[in-house]
Amino acid sequence: MMPAGGAMTRGPRILLRQIREALGGAGAGATPAQDRLNMVVRIIARSMVAEVCSIYLRRGSGELELFATEGLNPDAVHNTRLRPGEGLVGEVARMAQPISLSDAPSHPSFSYRPETGEDPYHAFLGAPLLRGGRAIGVLVVQNRTERRYDEEEVEDIQTIAMVLSETVSSGELLALDELRDVELAPHRPERLKGQKFSDGLAFGHVVLHEAPLPPEKLLSEDPAMEEARLKLALATLKTGLDVMLDKGQGLAGPSFEVLETYRMFADDRGWNRSLEEAVRNGLTAEAAVDRVRNEHRARFAQARDPYIRERLHDFEDLANRLLRVLAGDKPGERELPDDAILVARNLGPADLLEYPRDKLKGLLLEEGSAASHAAIVARALQIPCVGRLMGLRDRLSEGDMVIADGETGETYLRPRPDMLEAVQSRMAVREQRQAEFAQLRDVPAVTLDGQRITVLTNAGLAVDLENMAETGAEGIGLFRTEFQFMVSDELPRLNAQTALYKLVLDAAGDKPVTFRTLDIGGDKVLPYLEAEREENPALGRRAIRLGLDRPSLLRMQLRALLAAGAGRELRVMFPMIATVDEFRAARELVDIECAWAKRRGRALPALLRVGAMVECPSLLWHLDALLPLTDFVSIGTNDLFQYMYAADRTNPLVSDRYDPLSPPTLRALQSIQKACADTGTPVSICGELAGRPLEAFALIVLGFTRLSAPAGGVGPVKRMILSADLSAARRGMANLLNLSTGSVRNEIESLARKLNVAV
Ligand code: PEP
Ligand code: MG
Repeated sequence: MMPAGGAMTRGPRILLRQIREALGGAGAGATPAQDRLNMVVRIIARSMVAEVCSIYLRRGSGELELFATEGLNPDAVHNTRLRPGEGLVGEVARMAQPISLSDAPSHPSFSYRPETGEDPYHAFLGAPLLRGGRAIGVLVVQNRTERRYDEEEVEDIQTIAMVLSETVSSGELLALDELRDVELAPHRPERLKGQKFSDGLAFGHVVLHEAPLPPEKLLSEDPAMEEARLKLALATLKTGLDVMLDKGQGLAGPSFEVLETYRMFADDRGWNRSLEEAVRNGLTAEAAVDRVRNEHRARFAQARDPYIRERLHDFEDLANRLLRVLAGDKPGERELPDDAILVARNLGPADLLEYPRDKLKGLLLEEGSAASHAAIVARALQIPCVGRLMGLRDRLSEGDMVIADGETGETYLRPRPDMLEAVQSRMAVREQRQAEFAQLRDVPAVTLDGQRITVLTNAGLAVDLENMAETGAEGIGLFRTEFQFMVSDELPRLNAQTALYKLVLDAAGDKPVTFRTLDIGGDKVLPYLEAEREENPALGRRAIRLGLDRPSLLRMQLRALLAAGAGRELRVMFPMIATVDEFRAARELVDIECAWAKRRGRALPALLRVGAMVECPSLLWHLDALLPLTDFVSIGTNDLFQYMYAADRTNPLVSDRYDPLSPPTLRALQSIQKACADTGTPVSICGELAGRPLEAFALIVLGFTRLSAPAGGVGPVKRMILSADLSAARRGMANLLNLSTGSVRNEIESLARKLNVAV
C-alpha cells in the first residue's frame, strides 16, 4: 500500500497555491495553455502521490475528452474521448459525484482504452468539475497499487476540482479558442422561451443577482482567519434565522415551514462540516460556500421530484444568505455595467429596487410570475422582464451578452451580430411607436362614439412621476405607498412619509392622485417589521388587516397623508377590504386623525375622499352595504382574480391557470360596474389588466370609464380607446359573458379585430 498521504502531509492548500502560481506566476501568461495544463496535472500528481493525474473536459457533443495527463500515454491527449456515461470517468460526470475505487478494472463500469496505457493502474479517484450544478469535466488520479483513498483525499480532490473548474471556466487556464465547443462556460448563441412579464426590448450584459466568485477570491491567505470568518457568518446566519423563527416572521416572508427547513439545514452537520473542511483546505469562506452549493446542486439536479428540487432551492437560498452575510454588501453597491440585464432565479420587489435604475435595462428570471410585485416593479420601471426561463442560470455567465425580449417572452443568449441587428431595428420601431404614443399625450381619450375615458397611471416610485408627465396620464389612480417602505432599511418616519406624499401631489399639480395605504404582506416583505408566522401569507394578515391590528402604523401614515394634502384634494383608499366593518374601522381612523389635526390647528385637505379597493370577492355580495359608505372604489383585479380562482398570484405552478378574460371575471366586473352606476359611486380599475389594450377594451365595453394602468400601458390603451366604437362592441360582447368556456380571449380578440380596434 502506498502511504495514504501526500495530500495529508502537504495539504491541498499548498497544492492550490502552487496551481495558482503555475497559472498566474511571472511568465505564465506567455506559456502556451496546453503546457500550463500539463504543469497543473504534474503538480497535482506529485502532491497527491499519484502516478496518474488526468483532466477530462466535456465537449458540446457530451463526450469527455482527455485534455491533459501526467502518467498516461501523452499521445492519448485530445484523442481519447469517452461517450456520455462511458467508463468510470463518464460515471463520475453522470453522477456529478466523486468515485473512489481500490481496483478500478474490476468495476463493471470500467472501460478499457488501450491508447491510454492505463492497464497497470488499479486505484482510481475521480471528482467532477462542477459548474452551475453540472459536471463540465472530471479530474482523476490513479495509483498502481490497490490502495484505498481516504476521506480526506476524496475531500481534497473535490476542492482541487472546484478550483480547476472555476479557473478553467474563467478562461484563465485555457485560451477561449481551445474551449470552443467545450461546455465550460457556454458560449454558443441560444434561445430560451419563457413568459412575458414586462413589455419591452433590451440587450446588454448579464449581471447575476447571485454574483459568482472571481477566481482571485477563491484561495485564502490565512485559513485560520477564513475559518473564523465562516464560523462568525454561520453563527450570524443561525441567529438571524432564530430571531425570525422566535418572532414568527411569517408575514410576507418565507413561511414558517421554510424558515424551519432553513434552520434545520443551517444546523446540518454534513453541510457545516463540508464548509469547514473546504476552508481548512485553503478556500476562502465564500469559495467554500460556492463549492458545497455546487455539490448540492449537482446532487439534487438529477431529482425530478418537485419536493426534492424545492429543497435544493432552500439550500440555494441558505447559501445565498450566507454569502450575503459574508459579503455584508447590498446589490445597490455593486459595480454594474451601464447596460445591465439582471438574471436571477426569483426576486422580491425590494431586491429589484435596490439596483440602480439608470443601469438596469432588463430582467430575466428562471421562475416568478407575471402578477408578482417584482414584475409590477419591472413594469413601473419600464424595463422588459421575461420569466420562467428554465435552466437559464446554468447557461449563462456573468458578463455574457443577452437580449431580453419582453414582447415575445424570449431571451437570446450570446446573440450573433445579425440577431443583435434585428433587435436593434425592432427597438427603433418601438421607439417610433413610443413617439406616436407621445403624440397622443395631450389628446383626450374619447371613443369613436364619443365616450370619454379617463386614463390614469399606477405609481409608487419617484420614476413614476416622470412617467406620468411623459405618458400624459390624467393622474395617479393607484399610488402604492408601500414601495417607500420596501426600499428603506427601517420604518420611514412621519416626516419622510409626509415629504414623499407632498412631492407626489406637487408633481401631479391639478391631476388627481389616489394614495393606497400600506399594502404589506404576500410577496411584499418588510424585514424590519415584526410579524406573526403565517402559513399562507397571501391569505394572511395583509394590507388593511395589518393596519387595523397595528393602528399606530396606519394612523402615522394617515397623519402624513393629511399633512401632505392640507389645503388641497386628498384621495385615500384602503387595500384588501373584505368586510364593510373593516372599511368602517379604517374610515374611523381617518376621522380620528382629522380631529387630531384640527385640535392642533393644522390645515386639513380642502376635499377629502376615502375609498375602498375591491379585491376580496366577499365584497361582491355586499356592495349594497359598502358603496354608501365609500366616496369611490377601485378594483384591484390582480388580487380579486387570485382570490376568485384560489390561485396564488406569485406561485408559478398556479398563477396562470385561469384567464382574466373569462365569463366569471367579466361577470364579476360587470356586477361591480352596475352597482356603482346605480349608486353613482365613482369606480376605477387599477389591476395590471387595465394597462393591456385587449383587456382594457373589454373593460370599457363593460362600461368602465376610469382605468389606471402601468406607465407603459397608458399610450397603447389610449390608442385603443381612440379606435373603439363602444356601441358596436357592446352588442358583440353581451353574448360572450354567457359562453360556457373558461376563457373568452379569442372571442374578444376577434370582436376587436372585426371592429378595427387597435388592441
Ligand atoms: C391589485 O391587486 O390588482 C392591485 C392593484 O394591488 P396590488 O397589485 O398592489 O396588490
Ligand atoms: Mg392588490
